[in-house]
Amino acid sequence: MTTPRALPAYQWPPSNERIAAQTGASPRAIIRFDGNVPAAPSPVARPATIAAALADVNEYDRGRYEPLREAIAARHGVGVDAVALGAGSDEFIVLLARLFARDGSVATVPRNSYSMYRFAAAMAGARVVDDPSAADLVFVCRPNNPTGELPDVPDVPGQLVIDEAYADYAGVDALDRVDQGAIILRTFSKAFGLAGARVGYAIARPDLIAAIASYQAPLSVSSLSAALAQAVLAVPLDVSAQVAERERLAAELRGLGLEPVPSYTNFLYIPMDDPQSVVDALLPAGVVVRAFEGGLRVSVRDELDDDVLLDALRAWRDGSAVSAPWVRQRRATAETRFLVRLRVPGEGRVLVQSGAGFYDHMLQQLAFHAGWDLRVDGVGDLETGDHHTVEDMMRTVGAALDESLGDRRGLVRYGEARVPMDEALAHAVVDLAGRPIAELSIEPDPGMATHALESFVQTARLTLHVSASGSNAHHVAEAAFKAVGRALAVALRRDGDLVRSTKGSL
Ligand code: PMP
Repeated sequence: MTTPRALPAYQWPPSNERIAAQTGASPRAIIRFDGNVPAAPSPVARPATIAAALADVNEYDRGRYEPLREAIAARHGVGVDAVALGAGSDEFIVLLARLFARDGSVATVPRNSYSMYRFAAAMAGARVVDDPSAADLVFVCRPNNPTGELPDVPDVPGQLVIDEAYADYAGVDALDRVDQGAIILRTFSKAFGLAGARVGYAIARPDLIAAIASYQAPLSVSSLSAALAQAVLAVPLDVSAQVAERERLAAELRGLGLEPVPSYTNFLYIPMDDPQSVVDALLPAGVVVRAFEGGLRVSVRDELDDDVLLDALRAWRDGSAVSAPWVRQRRATAETRFLVRLRVPGEGRVLVQSGAGFYDHMLQQLAFHAGWDLRVDGVGDLETGDHHTVEDMMRTVGAALDESLGDRRGLVRYGEARVPMDEALAHAVVDLAGRPIAELSIEPDPGMATHALESFVQTARLTLHVSASGSNAHHVAEAAFKAVGRALAVALRRDGDLVRSTKGSL
């Protein structure tokens, strides 16, 4: 028996834990701009979505996920026999190199393209050649990773594989080449936000699909992943916000004197000498970008994250300090998932979106009047009512506040405010003592106002007294949340460097 020789293999960048150990940053504060994936999963990627698959997880799916394959076929207007599923499109890249270029040759279009093609060629014992017209197998990366450009599809004698991992961002595809024998690769990892689920697919003529499938393991996609893929396909895909954010980020980068290549994807490529030096310079700020030969690649996330990237790049360029960081708190349970980003003090930039409309509005009032920058993104099991969603949202915001206060040194500590809202009047008194005590009288309560503030108090570790009354429950709650915000704005002011307690600690 001989041990196989190890090949040059795909290298993942370091994990958050590894980077944290290296830089001293908290793993939670690290933002990845090196994965070309969206900043958050789809709202439908929730535990409830996989509950049925989980109930049958002891079984194989004998139909090989036929409903998913049918939904994919319908999406592209092809027959179900033109679709094969795989564990990510990487599975097909490896397989197709073996099938079409064993001990032969592989070319990529453009030349500077996705590294997996070269590793797959090595696995197949194939050479990588420059001339696509002289290769047994040609991978066309369209749009291209890492440059973001949209190459033309060449006419070549070899087998054409058109990798459309990012095609949803470009709004173009090469499905018209399928009849002539091209194989199209697609993935759920990018625009659909399911990279961790590992689902991709190939579209090709039925005779090719039958041949490809005959070389696959019988069922390489898990039933949980298939359920997620089917759920994200059932809602319309809308990449317009990502595309708009990409253009904003590109313009801001140009403002910094950088020159990103026009992109058809969810990332930007900036040609430069020594990109690794930028990677190293940004890492201590928790900002992870990726260096390629001749350029830097940054993924487009969302406005807040991208502003952190821009800030770090500005600091690198000017040798200036980075701005005060946002505290990031994540909370995920079987019922809800939240990402909270908070900066105290802030400029009143507040966006709260959990789907629990009324309490999103209440929290927005609280944060705005407290003078915070707050962004809350979450989803919850609203089909059971708003209880879990509101409670977890308020708990996560409270935890973020607690973290951003650190040892609470130098805070004024006490704050008080009275706020009317038409006929309603609320009085709030707060003490950032570190002891979670809520004495609340909100009459009438529109439902969750008292519990929402109690939940916040628990994790923020503060004492809160509220007395609010009136005849309209909406007005009463709104006055209460605003009063809490105003009271916090006072208590959160800085006044020297003292711990404001005769005990010496809060
Ligand atoms: N093709 C390209 C061009 C890619 O950038 C990637 C992911 N980095 C893949 C394929 C693989 O995607 P998947 O997660 O589906 O394996």
